[in-house]
Amino acid sequence: MTVVLDPVTRPHPLDDARTQLRQAVDLLGYDDGIYAMLAAPRREVTVSIPLRRDDGTTELLTGHRVQHNLSRGPAKGGLRYSPDATLDEVRALAMWMTWKCALLDVPYGGAKGGVRIDPRRYSIAELERVTRRYTTEISPMIGPERDIPAPDIGTDEQTMAWMMDTFSVQHGHTVLGVTTGKPVSLGGSLGRATATSRGVVHVALAALRSRGIDPARATAAVQGFGKVGRYAARFLAEAGVRVVAVGDQYGAVADERGLDVPALEAHVDATGSVVGFTDAIGGDELLEAEVDLLVPAAVEGVLTAGNAPRVRAKVIVEGANGPTTPEADAILRAADTLVVPDILANAGGVIVSYFEWVQANQAYWWSAAEVEARLADRMLAAWDRVSDHAGRLGRPLRTAATALAVERVAQAHVQRGLYP
Ligand code: NAD
Repeated sequence: MTVVLDPVTRPHPLDDARTQLRQAVDLLGYDDGIYAMLAAPRREVTVSIPLRRDDGTTELLTGHRVQHNLSRGPAKGGLRYSPDATLDEVRALAMWMTWKCALLDVPYGGAKGGVRIDPRRYSIAELERVTRRYTTEISPMIGPERDIPAPDIGTDEQTMAWMMDTFSVQHGHTVLGVTTGKPVSLGGSLGRATATSRGVVHVALAALRSRGIDPARATAAVQGFGKVGRYAARFLAEAGVRVVAVGDQYGAVADERGLDVPALEAHVDATGSVVGFTDAIGGDELLEAEVDLLVPAAVEGVLTAGNAPRVRAKVIVEGANGPTTPEADAILRAADTLVVPDILANAGGVIVSYFEWVQANQAYWWSAAEVEARLADRMLAAWDRVSDHAGRLGRPLRTAATALAVERVAQAHVQRGLYP
């Protein structure tokens, strides 16, 4: 069974991102000019990607790359392959990348890319052709000092290797720093593949403790079992948290005694889905499960005004980008649910992408232990900074985090000045 999103309740991530920006701008006392400058992307391109299918027919695909902000350094952000990818979604995701990079103080602006394609319906050879043509179309915009793509939904380290190779061939020499999330054998960083999930779990354990919940006695539900959700479930279980429900786009499974996560991973490797591992539950049941911790790690707009009143988790840690709408945020706040926002919770990926870029540019690679230690330091320092700021302001973590990030970006604009 494939979960089909209701067109009426479909997420509107760009509206959500702009609402969050508005709240931060108002809190900081900035004027409408600053809001307008930060609400609009700096640059965006839409490209046509003609694909020769394996059967000899031709199909035309559409792709986007949006650079939201470049004031603090080159743009940085993932590339998504999804049948739902739209320009507005990519714009929202690019804006969130700007705040994430600023909040974690990595020297980048924000970007995102998307190609409207369901990668499961194409062969590896077709996906390689799509990736190489998309890379060629956007190549004037990207590069280690311009814009550095990384994996996101539907893309992986192989996609990043093809992008790096295409860009390098066009430039006549190997440019390892043009993408991150590459295979370790090809200039990738140790620890990058699991970095987002490690970061999610560092913050999740800190958030549980902040609510007086001992992780060793806590329960969790995880939505999404891809690059983020899978390792989040694994690391939560390793930390002693009982993972009682997980789901993916095909369905969800639960076991209140705690799922055997390594066995579940083996099941997913063998079948492509969590479905069939144990008792099935509905996707909504997963989001509304009575657990201490909920980790949405799939797509945006899953926690809405419609289901937020029924959410019983005490702590929500956003592995996905934009899973909670502003209306749901307000409902969850009234219910005293702690929501750790995406721009903090899932920043582990961009932190280790930054480490990968630094290593590639210096051609000197760090040990796994060094990467893990530096990642943990940065995540926990950011958690402390955001939770202190939220406490001082008497505002939710998202408002505090967005305000800290927006202030940093606005400061860079002011210091650089307007040209001409
Ligand atoms: P992925 O493609 O590897 O996995 C996505 C997972 O979500 C799959 O298990 C899929 O079956 C499931 N899914 C998709 N639609 C669903 C639906 N409607 N209901 C339930 N499950 C659904 O993608 P990923 O890289 O794990 O990314 C997941 C989220 O995390 C995205 O929001 C992405 O932007 C965000 N994110 C990813 C990274 C990263 O490093 N990969 C970093 C930061 C944030």
